[in-house]
Amino acid sequence: MDIYGGHVNKLIEELSRLPGIGGKSAQRLAFHIINMPEDRAKSLSEAIINAKTNIKFCKNCYTITDREICPICSSEKRDHKVIMVVESPRDMAAYERCGQYKGVYHVLHGVINPAMGIGANEIKLKELILRLEQQDIEEVIIATNSSVEGEATAMYISKLIKPSGIITSRIASGVPVGGDLECIDEVTLLRALDGRITI
Ligand code: ZN
Repeated sequence: MDIYGGHVNKLIEELSRLPGIGGKSAQRLAFHIINMPEDRAKSLSEAIINAKTNIKFCKNCYTITDREICPICSSEKRDHKVIMVVESPRDMAAYERCGQYKGVYHVLHGVINPAMGIGANEIKLKELILRLEQQDIEEVIIATNSSVEGEATAMYISKLIKPSGIITSRIASGVPVGGDLECIDEVTLLRALDGRITI
């Protein structure tokens, strides 16, 4: 039975598509939004549209940014000869919160996952290889998550880079198996970075 009417149902349906939001949470959020003052609701919807339309990928490292080149890639204080390869901008943010890593990043936007139909061409891997050809890089630290796909992607990347003679390392264990980088505390992340091993 259609209790709420089309507009409310549509809002509940859209909210329930968000990760971690089930049907009940979607209803709760929908009613919270409906009860908001109109200007707050407008400001929320504008924030969503603005984030979607104004944010682009950094032309160098492919993190999300509102500039052509992100603040880290344009900083003179960073070591541009060391690249840390991460799965997502959120992983990059986790390392940045530690404040210890001084190199730059490359954001893959995923990992190779044949079961999900994600091959090497679906992530920003060609872009990484191009960077290695065009820029003076001494070390690539592969910091994909320690999931099966993250490990397989790390091996794939290290094989691709090997012929170039660039040092390739992998963040050390300490990051639990199946661990999502974003959820691991900063001390563990740092230990993983310090204990990286050449592969
Ligand atoms: Zn960048």
